[in-house]
Amino acid sequence: AREWHLAARPHGEPTPEDFALVEVEHPDPTEGQVVVRMVAMSVDPYMRGRMRLGPSYAAPWEVGEVMRGGAVGRVVDSRSPDVPVGALVLTDAAWRDVAVLDAREVRQLPATEDLPLTYSLGILGMPGLTAYAGLFRVAAFREGDAVFVSGAAGAVGSAVGQFARLRGAAAVIGSAGSPDKVGWLTGELGFTAAFDYHDGRVKDLLAQAAPDGIDVYFDNVGGEHLDAALGALHVHGRVAICGAISAYNATEAVPGPKNFSSLMIAKRLAVTGLLVSDHTDLHGEFTETVSGWIRSGELTVRETVYEGLENAVPAFLDLLKGANTGKMVVRLAPD
Ligand code: NDP
Repeated sequence: AREWHLAARPHGEPTPEDFALVEVEHPDPTEGQVVVRMVAMSVDPYMRGRMRLGPSYAAPWEVGEVMRGGAVGRVVDSRSPDVPVGALVLTDAAWRDVAVLDAREVRQLPATEDLPLTYSLGILGMPGLTAYAGLFRVAAFREGDAVFVSGAAGAVGSAVGQFARLRGAAAVIGSAGSPDKVGWLTGELGFTAAFDYHDGRVKDLLAQAAPDGIDVYFDNVGGEHLDAALGALHVHGRVAICGAISAYNATEAVPGPKNFSSLMIAKRLAVTGLLVSDHTDLHGEFTETVSGWIRSGELTVRETVYEGLENAVPAFLDLLKGANTGKMVVRLAPD
C-alpha cells in the first residue's frame, strides 16, 4: 500500500517537498476491523491548517506521519459483523490507497446508484453541509435577500449561491478568480452577477455587481473581500464567516476589515463564525433537500477530478491556487 506523509511544515505556500509518498505494508485486520480500498479522496482548504502547529479547529498532522482526510472507499476484507465486504463507506482516513480501520471509524453510505459516489465528498458531504448550514442557519437566509458569496465557483461557494437562488433570493452575487469561472456562475449556475476579483478593488467590483447592496455575505475568503462586503451590507445584514483562504498561506497576521466597530454599530450587523461540525443535526434535512435538487436538475454540480494517489499533492496545491471549478477530488480506483 502507499500513503502520503507530511515531510515538513511549510512556511508560506506549501511545495511538493513538504510531502512524501511512502510504501507501507498494512497489517492484517483484527477482530472488529475492516480493510478499505479507497475509491476517491478529498483535498480541502482546511488541510492547509493541518500542516501548521498552532490554533486550528482540526488537529495538526504530524511530520513523518500519514496525513488524513475525507474519502470514500469499498470494504475489501471485514472482521466486523456490522460492515460487510463490498460495503461503500465514508472515512477520514485517506491520503492512502488502502487502510485497516476499526469498523466504527467508517460510515456506511446508502446505495444511491443514480448519483456519483464522489458527491459524498462534495455537494452531499462536508462542503455541501457547510453551505447549507452556513446559509440557512448561520446567516439566517430569508426569501428576498440579496446574497453575496466569495469563492463562488468552489465546492462550498457554488452550493451557497445555488441554494440561495433556489430558495428565492432577490439577487445572488459571486466572486471568483477567473473569467471562465465568472461565466459559469452567471451562465449555468444562474447567478445574478459575478466578478473576477483580480479585475480591480473588490469594493468597486462589488458596488458594480450589487448596486443595491446586500443582505447576506457568505465569506470563504476573508481580507479585502470581507472589508468590501461589510461596506455593501444593509442595516441588519448578516455574515457567515466560513473561511479565509486569502490568508491561509500568510506568514504574518492579516489586517482585518476597516472601521469594523462603527460599521457593526451603524448597521447592527450579525457576523457569525461557522464550523460545519456544529451542524450535523441538519444532516437528514440537508441530504433530502439537496439530493432532491440534484435529481430534479435544478442544482448544477461540477467536480474537478485528478487521477491517482500520486496526484493527490498536485491536486491539493492546485486547489489552493484555484485550479478547481466545483469540488476538487482525487480518484484512486474505480467504484
Ligand atoms: P474551494 O472549492 O472553494 O477551493 C478553494 C478556492 O479558493 C480555489 O478554487 C480558489 O478559487 C480560491 N482562492 C484561493 N486563493 C484565493 C485568494 N487569495 N482569494 C480568493 N480566493 C482564493 O474550497 P471549499 O469550497 O472546500 O472551501 C471554501 C472555503 O470554505 C475555504 O475557505 C474553506 O476553508 C472553508 N470551509 C470552512 C468550513 C467550516 O466549517 N468553517 C468547512 C468547509 C470549508 P479562485 O479561482 O476563485 O481564486
